[in-house]
Amino acid sequence: MAGRLKTNTAIFQDLESKQLVAIEDVDLPIHLTAVKLRSRKAFLKEFTSLHMVVLTAACNCRCRYCQASSLPPDTPEGQAMHMSKKTAANVAKLILQTPAPSIKIEFQGGEPTLNRETLVYFVKLIEKLNRKQSGKHIEFIVCSNLVYIDDELLSFFKQHDIAVSTSLDGPRQVHDQNRICRNGASGYDLFYRHLLRARELLGHDSCSPLPTITRANLDRLREVVDEYNRLGFSGIFLRPINPYGFAREEWQTLSFPVEEFVAAYKDTLDHIIRLNLSGVYFVEYYTQLLLTRILTPFSTGFVDLQSPSGAGISGVIYDTNGDVYPTDEARMLARTGDRSFLLGNAHKHTYEQIFDNRLIRSLSEASILDCLPECLTCVYNPYCGADPVRYYMECGDIRGFRPFSDFCKKHEALFDHLFSLIAENSPDVMNVFWSWITGARIEEVSI
Ligand code: SF4
Ligand code: SF4
Repeated sequence: MAGRLKTNTAIFQDLESKQLVAIEDVDLPIHLTAVKLRSRKAFLKEFTSLHMVVLTAACNCRCRYCQASSLPPDTPEGQAMHMSKKTAANVAKLILQTPAPSIKIEFQGGEPTLNRETLVYFVKLIEKLNRKQSGKHIEFIVCSNLVYIDDELLSFFKQHDIAVSTSLDGPRQVHDQNRICRNGASGYDLFYRHLLRARELLGHDSCSPLPTITRANLDRLREVVDEYNRLGFSGIFLRPINPYGFAREEWQTLSFPVEEFVAAYKDTLDHIIRLNLSGVYFVEYYTQLLLTRILTPFSTGFVDLQSPSGAGISGVIYDTNGDVYPTDEARMLARTGDRSFLLGNAHKHTYEQIFDNRLIRSLSEASILDCLPECLTCVYNPYCGADPVRYYMECGDIRGFRPFSDFCKKHEALFDHLFSLIAENSPDVMNVFWSWITGARIEEVSI
């Protein structure tokens, strides 16, 4: 497309005053705008790139905030919630019908390694089917608490290039406060022992942890960052607790007001920036993602902050019985009895019936920020996203009351803070930011 886009009046929002401003006779080069928009929405071409497979609802831990409402593994109830090989085969066939040429398959639980037989079967089967008929690029990730993992399984991971996503809430005392092993042992000690072994067999960067921020570590985030750094991780994702599963039952003791999270985030970000300036490359991944959206035209592929939302179109989850849900949170809601977001079942429905589904269309329509009151005129609209399942849980409506939601309050505050840092234009801070966006060392991006 060539030419210029001429329009009489355009409405923008002033960054400082948040007031709407009308600008007359706007004259934009169309091709530039189109290219930027296409880059920003590139994730729409990747339908569906993230496939989460729940191999079991059982877990050897019983974390206080477990969103998946894990079951004890040695009980008939826990054993009954393993994915069977038959279900795994049908899920694998569904996944390979996805149009995206490059996909990520994430094994979840409970603790997915407790259903080792199906895990091994699934990986071998989908690799075989993919070689024969699909030729996709497939990346595997196992989400494991690393409480128990042996050399045989680690060798299998190495053979099939499987990465490990794990959990670490901070130093031993902080970690063990919420992450409870069912056998009474220290989850931190077991995590640490198996992390070292995994690194030995798979390589130093094979395991990436995520913290869950609760009341227990909110005021100790600097210590959490230092622990990550001490253990040789090159970043952290400051991720607050979500109100699903067991977390919902203990919400009053585990959670905190969004304002407290924002204050802790700012303080921790400052700590991390200083760490980088002292010569340690250490990223805050959520900031990296927001900065990439603000300072570049590229889409980040982060399914939880997209417009339209990534529910079903960028990510999808298959439960142990083959039920398909548009998000992990929708699956967790189902576990507590609300199956409003069920898309279909891998045994009973075809790919078209599941994915060309009225529910997915509704979730997408309800999460396009350019069509939602308030978000439509918000200055942060190009960088923000929507979370229809979370809105539904909070107020029974997938559109939600966004300007009053914690989601909006949090993102508005984070954008305010990042834009004020960008406006200050300190060379030190901007060098750190660009090093995170480009993945290069500070010396290589210094301005
Ligand atoms: S390790 Fe994960 S699945 Fe297991 S109880 Fe903890 S949060 Fe739940
Ligand atoms: S959710 Fe809030 S911050 Fe995000 S675009 Fe909508 S109004 Fe703006």
